[in-house]
Amino acid sequence: MKHWMAWTLLLLAALTGTAARAASGAGHQAQAVKVTTLSTMLADYEGLGEWGYAALVEVDGRRVLFDTGANPDVVLKNTEALHIDLSTVEDVVISHFHDDHTGGLITLRKALMQKNPGALSHLYVGEGIFEPRYHKDGKGESENGFPALAKAYLDTGGRIQQLSGPAEIASGVWLTGPVPRGHAETNWNPGLFIKTGGQLFPDTLREDTSLVIDTAQGVVIVTGCGHAGIMNIAEHAKAITGDARLVAVIGGIHLFAARDAVLVETAARLKGLSYLLAAHCTGIEATVRLRELLGLDRRTAVVAAIGSSFTLGKGIEAGAIAGWVG
Ligand SMILES: [Zn+2]
Ligand SMILES: [Zn+2]
Repeated sequence: MKHWMAWTLLLLAALTGTAARAASGAGHQAQAVKVTTLSTMLADYEGLGEWGYAALVEVDGRRVLFDTGANPDVVLKNTEALHIDLSTVEDVVISHFHDDHTGGLITLRKALMQKNPGALSHLYVGEGIFEPRYHKDGKGESENGFPALAKAYLDTGGRIQQLSGPAEIASGVWLTGPVPRGHAETNWNPGLFIKTGGQLFPDTLREDTSLVIDTAQGVVIVTGCGHAGIMNIAEHAKAITGDARLVAVIGGIHLFAARDAVLVETAARLKGLSYLLAAHCTGIEATVRLRELLGLDRRTAVVAAIGSSFTLGKGIEAGAIAGWVG
């Protein structure tokens, strides 16, 4: 615990979302928004699908990489296939410690910094990501590979910013930091524990951080695995932006094994959502059920493929495999 603190620039977000929004008057709102899927299981490009997630978030000229996929080279190869240049992206977010979101970080940083030393040089994570995770006897090595990854990242000259609460990283673009868990969602695979005061407690992925974009039409949410629970994330996005209207949910929301009652409750809480670009651990059945429950269709609620995207004011471009071709 102590050694990583020495490596880490511990810049804690001091503002709560609502306070920040209130302090900044009407708040900043994003105009041009595009989110492109760079890693998920369904591949339109080069066959490079994987169990993982990554997306490029572009807002008013500012570009952010959200998660980095599972395998060291898949996001890099996918961006080459898609002709997307990430070398001008300086900010990268790792949503949580699971290696299907962290796997590409070092490969991408090392490859891209040859073109631009600032590429992926600023890493945002939620507080709790360094916590050791154990199996139920609490013995042996921690299952959390993130501290070692963070050291390798810092060795490349990158800096890490841990968030204890919401932070606006660009105009109208927020990171949630750890999300309050008002709803009892358990959208993760149980089995790992954290140790506090010598006692083991189930790991709830406290650090799980999503990206929230505040727009004139409502809120756009990008989430890696949605372990904090998409109902909780949506509620927190509302608290941060003061806007209850949901335009789009993009990414993994870990409902692939959810009971129907959970999907029904989730849809009720996401009522009014206009677009669902459901990637990774959302699950195909869950996506189709949510589409039905939310009154959406195959153009507006789509299983994401690599290269699929959401553009504010335009909707989802799904690609030939994943969606509707008119
Ligand atoms: Zn995960
Ligand atoms: Zn995942």
